[in-house]
Amino acid sequence: MGKILLGSHVSMNGPKFYLGSVEEALSYGSTTFMFYTGAPQNSFRKPINELKIQEGRKLLKDAGIDENKIIVHAPYIVNGANKTKPELFQMSIDIITNELRRTAAFHCKTLVLHPGAHVGQGSEEGIKNLAECLDRVFENDGTDVKIALETMSGKGSEIGINFNEIKKIIDLCKYKNRLGVCLDTCHISDAGYDITDFDNILNEFDKIIGLDKLLVIHLNDSKNPKGAHKDRHENLGYGEIGFEILHKIAANPRLIDVPKILETPYINEKPPYKQEISMLQSGQYINNWKENF
Ligand code: FE
Ligand code: FE
Ligand code: ZN
Repeated sequence: MGKILLGSHVSMNGPKFYLGSVEEALSYGSTTFMFYTGAPQNSFRKPINELKIQEGRKLLKDAGIDENKIIVHAPYIVNGANKTKPELFQMSIDIITNELRRTAAFHCKTLVLHPGAHVGQGSEEGIKNLAECLDRVFENDGTDVKIALETMSGKGSEIGINFNEIKKIIDLCKYKNRLGVCLDTCHISDAGYDITDFDNILNEFDKIIGLDKLLVIHLNDSKNPKGAHKDRHENLGYGEIGFEILHKIAANPRLIDVPKILETPYINEKPPYKQEISMLQSGQYINNWKENF
């Protein structure tokens, strides 16, 4: 069997920027990865031409990694579901538009976006707002980058907390072929899905949205039990989902072309990804692996 399409989120810092991101991903044994084009918490962005993109791409090519499968994540501050303050809604449109352009500059094809929170207006309203936000983004966009709406855990007033809500967003948007989904294992378990039967979840996804729209898997264990609506990621084997189920998802033949990305927490300020990736690729879980960290 070939290698699983698997990596983690990686950082992008000076002086090496994208070249450093690629080096980091390769140091974990990744076959793909995810990054933010700047800080996740804000929209301050360095100019594209300072980010050593061509150097990073050259290294990717030499390593035989398909850049079409590399994922970009939009910053968290975007909330396209909230229209209560017009200037904030416009800010979300501007940030997403800019992130699409930046994603295209890295020759990546997928931008993960949190659907946002309705802040008391109700999910129907939030869903409508997000679809309008996405229409405004796409009507002025010249890229071929797709937006993958991430399934959320149901914390606070989040929207996009089940497949039906995601489907409604896609249906309301005029540019349906520009939309896909990022399925986060921690989030769907927290949202109430029974992750022990993942093939059943895929069947439901296929029936409601269509499996061809599944563009990314975020592979995370969860600190909390099914339905907890908490969104606290845990390292593989240390949470309520467990290694066996997560490994089955990673190795599921129906997901062979879908990049799987780890967003598990650092341990003592050190990234766990080399260890977690090697366990997932081999299928061999090492008991108490964190103790040797
Ligand atoms: Fe996310
Ligand atoms: Fe995620
Ligand atoms: Zn999360």
